[in-house]
Amino acid sequence: MGHKNVCINCQKAYNMGMNHEDIREGNCPECGMKMIPVSHRFRPPKKTENKKWEVVKYYLSNGFFYHHIKDAGCNSWVPYPEDMRGAKEFVKKYRAQ
Ligand SMILES: [Zn+2]
Repeated sequence: MGHKNVCINCQKAYNMGMNHEDIREGNCPECGMKMIPVSHRFRPPKKTENKKWEVVKYYLSNGFFYHHIKDAGCNSWVPYPEDMRGAKEFVKKYRAQ
């Protein structure tokens, strides 16, 4: 249920809340940039974890918004790798979905 908005400029994620009309508009309350809606499953790294944010940006720029991805061979949801190497393999493998 629901989703989060990510500002890759501020490296922050905002929950979609009832009290935040400005956030619901999709613009970052801090810098005013257009935010990217992602699945609520997204767990934002700390603001200072630049390496992890690089991976997040990589996913988003490749059209991966932390929605469920299922492996063809099994019934479990595939976790999004947090390191760049894993991310690149992940994107390559699941881009078709
Ligand atoms: Zn921002």
